Amino acid sequence: MPTRFIATYDTEKKDDCLAACAAIRAAHERHGVPGTFFIVGKRLEEEGRGYRDLLGDVPDFEIASHTYSHIILRDHPFCGKTPDNATRQREIVLGKEWVEQTFQRPCVGLRPGCGFHNALRGDPWLLDTVVNAGFGYVSSLLWGPETTLPALLVPPFTYAEDGHPELWELPGHGWHENLLKAHNLTVEVKRILAWPSPMPEAIRLTPIRTPEEEFAMNRLFIDRAVEMGLPYVSLIWHPWSLARFDPAMRMLDLTFAYIKELGLEATTYQAEWERTRIALPVA
Ligand SMILES: [Zn+2]
Repeated sequence: MPTRFIATYDTEKKDDCLAACAAIRAAHERHGVPGTFFIVGKRLEEEGRGYRDLLGDVPDFEIASHTYSHIILRDHPFCGKTPDNATRQREIVLGKEWVEQTFQRPCVGLRPGCGFHNALRGDPWLLDTVVNAGFGYVSSLLWGPETTLPALLVPPFTYAEDGHPELWELPGHGWHENLLKAHNLTVEVKRILAWPSPMPEAIRLTPIRTPEEEFAMNRLFIDRAVEMGLPYVSLIWHPWSLARFDPAMRMLDLTFAYIKELGLEATTYQAEWERTRIALPVA
């Protein structure tokens, strides 16, 4: 089965992300490509009408949760410390409610802010809370070993070992493109690289400068995922950062054209999750 491609947007910044989503939607329309938007609940509380008008009427767009206010759900060396459980629960439950209330459809997926190198493994309270909130999948594995970049090409798995065979992890892959552009880098690029690198060809010691360079990096991960026979490949994109670097969304044009050239199907996380559950039913 050929690898599928999922265009994904971690949508979080006030004003900037909504403006960027207009250019992103246009790029998707030019190429007829579906996509998944993980949106922070607070953005919907404050700018819900704008998001609903822009993204709500596109049947190929999945809207999922990026928590309520982007508070970090687990300790992370670059992104912060875990808050108390009441705060974590609020982030999970309210984030989902805002998506469902704004778009009047079920929200089945959660991408926690920042993501983690070990996904949600080994945190029973967090897993219980995510399952009890009604999520079917999380996309939380967004870093390589010991919180390095790039995030490796890992296929979906369940949390059966943690007692939750019904919950799927659908990892994201590659660089967080904002860090590749040094948009919110508080440490040097070199500090977030693994040594030795499991993917030396995807290492950059300096920020990228052009949409063409960004596309060349994307292509490395797409080609490698196809070689590995991965069910899907999905890069970690942020509307505000894409627009700041490349307002015309040239990188999206190049990437979507390449997907088409390779004959890969484009899909959403939700569709991939549904497909995976059917293909690999939990015993
Ligand atoms: Zn985020």
